[in-house]
Amino acid sequence: MSTEDSLRRAQSDNQSSINVRRNEIRQQKSSGASKSETDESAKAVNDLKVDKSSIKSQLKASISGEGSSAASKEDFRKAVENTLERHLFYIPSFEIYGGVAGLYDYGTPGCAVKSNVLAFWRQHFVREEEMEEIDCSCVTPEVVLKASGHVKKFTDLMVKDEKTGLFYRVDHLLKDHCKDKLKKDLSISAEKAAELKHLLAVLDDLSDEQLGTKFKEIVAPDTKNSFSDPEQFNLMFKTKIGPSRATKGYMRPETAQGIFVNFRKLYNCNGKKLPFATAQIGQAFRNEISPRQGLLRVREFTLAEIEHFVDPENKSHPKFSKVSKLEFLMFPRDEQLSGQSAKRICLGDAVSKGIVNNETLAYFIGRVYVFLTRLGIDEKRLRFRQHLENEMAHYAEDCWDAEIECSYGWVECVGIADRSAYDLRAHTDGSGVALVAQEKFAEPKEKEKHVITLNKEELGLAFKDIQKEVVKALEVMEEKEAMKMKAALESKGEAEFEVCTLEEPVVLIKKNMVSISKEIIKQHTRVFTPSVIEPSFGIGRIIYCLYEHSFYTRPSEAGDQQLNVFRFTPLVAPIKCTVFSLVQNHKYEQLVEQISTSLKAARISYKKDITGTSIGKKYARTDELGVPFAITVDSTTSVTIRERDSKEQIRVNVDDVAAVVKDLSEGCRTWTDISQRYKYPPLISAEWKQRIIKTIHLFLYIFFFATIVKLTVL
Ligand code: AMP
Repeated sequence: MSTEDSLRRAQSDNQSSINVRRNEIRQQKSSGASKSETDESAKAVNDLKVDKSSIKSQLKASISGEGSSAASKEDFRKAVENTLERHLFYIPSFEIYGGVAGLYDYGTPGCAVKSNVLAFWRQHFVREEEMEEIDCSCVTPEVVLKASGHVKKFTDLMVKDEKTGLFYRVDHLLKDHCKDKLKKDLSISAEKAAELKHLLAVLDDLSDEQLGTKFKEIVAPDTKNSFSDPEQFNLMFKTKIGPSRATKGYMRPETAQGIFVNFRKLYNCNGKKLPFATAQIGQAFRNEISPRQGLLRVREFTLAEIEHFVDPENKSHPKFSKVSKLEFLMFPRDEQLSGQSAKRICLGDAVSKGIVNNETLAYFIGRVYVFLTRLGIDEKRLRFRQHLENEMAHYAEDCWDAEIECSYGWVECVGIADRSAYDLRAHTDGSGVALVAQEKFAEPKEKEKHVITLNKEELGLAFKDIQKEVVKALEVMEEKEAMKMKAALESKGEAEFEVCTLEEPVVLIKKNMVSISKEIIKQHTRVFTPSVIEPSFGIGRIIYCLYEHSFYTRPSEAGDQQLNVFRFTPLVAPIKCTVFSLVQNHKYEQLVEQISTSLKAARISYKKDITGTSIGKKYARTDELGVPFAITVDSTTSVTIRERDSKEQIRVNVDDVAAVVKDLSEGCRTWTDISQRYKYPPLISAEWKQRIIKTIHLFLYIFFFATIVKLTVL
């Protein structure tokens, strides 16, 4: 139990004791008890009141302790965001027209960081896992998103503040309200506090109906604002395609559907073998009700998604042993529901104990962990949280989110889901094209199979306009479903059947519409719909968390100010190195040009600075951009390379410098390796060297001037 919880409990117990003592006094008075007896009880009440005020001040201190940590988080965030905006890492879009909430542009360093993150993503997943890659259209016809379920279900529950006209997500209002109440309201009982904490833990598990009820019960009565009734809002941007505007369409809310609809071609291209995966990087569009928290909840963002197609009967992964020993913070469903926190679990154990549903899902969880930590995400602020039962779509087998902690709290940055065969089945039903895989048997196998015969006349009479959709879905019905339908028809004379392309997907099939018989057939192949394991990466969210995890401040050399630094890994850094000349000198400047040319040839991004600014200021400017290495030209044969965080320097021959920086920035060598090889005895740092040179110049000037004056006087 937290300190706050025990103080709240002590507060409730204290109040009950006061009430008991007060009743006692009342009874003593009515039964004519002596003054000494009532005095004793009154003293007990007074003592309890002293305790009450002490508990209250302790509770206040405990809550304000959290408050001050929230305030320092906010200060930290402001420092990060100011630095990012000042250097154009990202900026609000269309700002001169007042901007639009949830839309952002990336400037030069932001573009470079994004491109580095995506390049590493391609290397880490697409190349290392030998995936296919595809780049599909963003404009998507309605029929596709109807089949996938987005037209009907891609909604959030919202309310309108009748006074201000602003719209809010119901779950956000509920979450903020519970957090606020717990933080600011000293009078709520321990029971009420526990109830609010539980609600926060299970919020994602609530259906829209439950959310609406809780909102009306908890938030609405406690606020002065008047809210409309909760309603569902579809997040997709709607459009009409072509001049006739006859075809309805949407901007895609995710990239995955493009992969599913191309499944047949991708499967064939992959030699009709499973498992295989296809990746896609691209823009996604979601008309968020209330965009907030900078890059974290926006209306247009880059997604990087993988659809890994696998045989549902074999979800083992040949490379699982490569990640099975990894151990990191995991937050399984049971721990969340029982109010515990995330704990370190070994991935191999998570699979063997059935915490993670299967090896392939766990393999991707492990690979995502490696990806994020290699980018520079702090592993202590990274956890994998399992979805609660109702939080997952009904068809999903298991889902985990990679959540990263930043000043806004824990943020979902990557979703890793076993979506079973839902997506391919939905598009099979929707298009009438069987999106299936085949397994060829070495020897034919005898198998009992359910064969369905349709009575189209009866189906036509019953379903009229929707007959075509129902027939299509019945024709591609899977074995398991056929078995279930046969049993229901025999026992009840009717069976519920889901046609996911329909507005109202559940239809009632009666005995006279179909007949299902069992036949023994010789099978040469097994035809099945593959399952899909989908890791889905919100690139903007990952990048924002990376910014926060990389940011720190340190005192300047003179100790008179705090300097900002981004400790980007060389992999992520927008610029890999800077080239300075220690003093303004033609020979040094020529050398800066020569080094720049060799860096360009080695494809290393760099920034040069030959101004007369002091070297300390030059370092400070580029530390703020997160540049990991600084080359300073202070002689005509060799230069120094300084590492940003340790501020250590090495001395390298001019001809070697591009190769050394290339090795460092591509991760082929670490700074420790390199610094051992090129030990630079830093008797004096480059900064001090510059100061000494300046002082010598000054003395020479004074000497020269004094000599002239002396000669003139003589
Ligand atoms: P989802 O399909 O909702 O699971 O989203 C996939 C990933 O996209 C999430 O894990 C987030 O990282 C990211 N994401 C979702 N919605 C947004 C948004 N509005 N703004 C930025 N990133 C988002």
